[in-house]
Amino acid sequence: MPMAGTIIDGMAMLGERSLEVLNPATGGLAGTIAVADAAAVEAAVASAKAAFLAWSQTTDAERCAAVLACADLLDHHAEELARILTAEQGKPLNGMGSRFELGGAAAWTRHTAGLKLPVEFVQDDADAHIAIHRKPLGVVASITPWNWPLMIAIWHVMPAIRTGNTVVLKPSPYTPLSTLRMVELLQNALPPGVLNVVAGSDEIGPLLTSHPDVAKICFTGSCNTGRRVMASAAPTLKRLTLELGGNDAGIVLADADPKAIAEGLFWGAFVNNGQTCAALKRLFVHDAIYEAVCDELVAYAATIKTGAGTDEDSLLGPIQNRMQFDKVTRLVDEAAAAGARILNGGAPSGGDGLFYPVTLVANAMPGMSLVDEEQFGPALPIIRYSDIDTAIDQANAVDVGLGGSIWSSDIPRARDLAMRLECGTAWVNKHGGIRPDTPFGGVKASGFGVEFGQHGLEEFVSLHVIHD
Ligand code: NDP
Repeated sequence: MPMAGTIIDGMAMLGERSLEVLNPATGGLAGTIAVADAAAVEAAVASAKAAFLAWSQTTDAERCAAVLACADLLDHHAEELARILTAEQGKPLNGMGSRFELGGAAAWTRHTAGLKLPVEFVQDDADAHIAIHRKPLGVVASITPWNWPLMIAIWHVMPAIRTGNTVVLKPSPYTPLSTLRMVELLQNALPPGVLNVVAGSDEIGPLLTSHPDVAKICFTGSCNTGRRVMASAAPTLKRLTLELGGNDAGIVLADADPKAIAEGLFWGAFVNNGQTCAALKRLFVHDAIYEAVCDELVAYAATIKTGAGTDEDSLLGPIQNRMQFDKVTRLVDEAAAAGARILNGGAPSGGDGLFYPVTLVANAMPGMSLVDEEQFGPALPIIRYSDIDTAIDQANAVDVGLGGSIWSSDIPRARDLAMRLECGTAWVNKHGGIRPDTPFGGVKASGFGVEFGQHGLEEFVSLHVIHD
């Protein structure tokens, strides 16, 4: 019996067609869903539109309580959801895997519950009364990818409903199972129609992004799809938050301690097997410590087990899908052919699953596809530099700008250099750390709009000024 791919108005619905979801660790079946069709998209948007009438009128306290109840449900069902996530996504239960993702989802939900957008007064005296109110926008469409499916859905959904909007969520066809179960559970905390989900194949996304009754789209995914989403939203002038791809640079200065930074560099690059928008994807290392940093990274990598996500000692799993697996394989092969030095890994592991070992690639250079394209997988190019201005120029010489990092024992200098990176967030002596109280977003082709905290919440409202 397939799982319902649609939840509308609180009710699970079965479509006529089905979609098989594969387990990337085995090549076998993780589950089957009965997919949503065009009629389901219409019904989901209509349901969200109808629910908006009442939900937008609820009090701040009521919405805060509902979001907190969602956090409790996530905590209560964390292990069940983590196991579904591991089966379809591949990430391990342990480490920065499925349990970590569920912990993050609950923490983000709880933090969002506590955020507020009070009425602001520009003037309030005998001469004038000018008040700035925040109003919800209406129906929000959330389109999520396969790398962090639950966490990213929470990042879209919770600020939307916290501010009085209603949502139609569309998960990636690679990883719909955990999202569908999560939405089913969250119905216990939300009135019918406030959170709907439509999972299906490729026709669903464009129907949602062009729908006249959708007021805003939150999209996380590739730059190319982001461009299509924006074009599709243009005729009805929808609000957009686009969190797209990156090709983050990390720059290690000559005064860094190779041994001390190896663990941070490794996880900055290989978190979720590199399938993370703000992972470190191009590592620039000063000539003076280049070989030492390579050696320390190889030594650290040897301590990390890649294996089936259900093995409690695995810290990395398979690549999530065949397209991504083929891309990583191609980029590493092309780098080797162009003269790069493969320090470890360097070829698929074999077997039924989509396993590719951690691969560190020395003597990489701009101009190689592994450096210029976003690999989104477990292969890190390491580029040698001797002049910091050249390294900064090369770091900035891509059309995307999500994150970046500087690694040094001279913190004031590192901060100054971090300011020169063209990205939304630049870290010092770490890479990729995000928090629910700190805005996160990209520049250039990495998108626009921010998520998280007060700044992120503002993206889900319009200002309404009362002036008397
Ligand atoms: P996509 O950007 O194609 O897909 C992300 C989501 O968008 C999916 O739910 C997809 O569903 C949906 N989508 C695709 N086309 C449209 C459309 N025209 N309108 C509305 N929604 C649409 O990512 P891929 O899975 O193809 O991955 C490709 C590359 O994207 C990766 O190699 C990586 O570089 C990058 N990526 C970046 C992520 C990030 O976190 N920033 C996350 C995932 C990938 P459907 O397939 O059903 O259309």
